[in-house]
Amino acid sequence: MPELPEVETVRRALAVEAIGRRVDAVEVGRDRVARRTSPDAIVAGLTGAEIERVDRRGKYLLVGLDTGSTVMIHLRMSGQLLIGATETMRPRHCHVMATLDDGRELRFVDPRTFGEVVVCAPGALHRLVPELSRLGPDPIVDGVDARDISTWFRGRRRRLKSMLLDQSIIAGIGNIYGDEICHRARLRPDRPVDSIDRRGCARLASAVSTVLDEAIAAGGSTLGDAQYVGLDGVAGSYQREHRVHARAGERCRTCGRGIVRRMSLDQRSTHWCPVCQR
Ligand SMILES: [Zn+2]
Repeated sequence: MPELPEVETVRRALAVEAIGRRVDAVEVGRDRVARRTSPDAIVAGLTGAEIERVDRRGKYLLVGLDTGSTVMIHLRMSGQLLIGATETMRPRHCHVMATLDDGRELRFVDPRTFGEVVVCAPGALHRLVPELSRLGPDPIVDGVDARDISTWFRGRRRRLKSMLLDQSIIAGIGNIYGDEICHRARLRPDRPVDSIDRRGCARLASAVSTVLDEAIAAGGSTLGDAQYVGLDGVAGSYQREHRVHARAGERCRTCGRGIVRRMSLDQRSTHWCPVCQR
């Protein structure tokens, strides 16, 4: 499932390829992708508009148009945003197709159809996508430091990884990067957060930015399901650098001694090294 680094990789590529381009024509193949509004709203809101900016908050991609409208794109489980020549064959599960004025087509592909495209008229973004107002700070856009973290953790008994995955506290981290960040910070994912001291919070702040920056530089992670690919259809490579995520039973790449364990936390598979993480 795409998390902050994967969505940021798509955002950067989309900014390069699409800013300044006009959308000449739009087709919506499946209504479910347009469930918050309607296929007609997507067609009407996009056709003739020029793409002015491409932003991101957490896992939400926000495309600003010259009409003042904003297009919210969420990839959820298996969404992909691809760009290609109009004459190339469309992949299966292509739900929104936007022809750009340079003859290329922007395609929203999503086998599992949890993903969404919402075109929001000026001023309607927070009404149509109310969860945006409930997002915590984005660690790349806003930055997160040790002081923020120790404030969130004070007096709370919640488990560390649950806190990291709570989008209302910090936006954009999911199961992959939650595991990798806890490992980099040398903290057990099931540690109650009020037991983490100031030095632990400092390690965590630095792990959040290091792991996310490294993952963005590697174009994100593409796991065995191969569902995440960038705008150019190319998979990410950060999975090769994962120290613990999805590596249960293998030797820890950091200490070389611990065998990576798996536990279930909030019904999510969680990976950690019993030697590195306390
Ligand atoms: Zn280790």
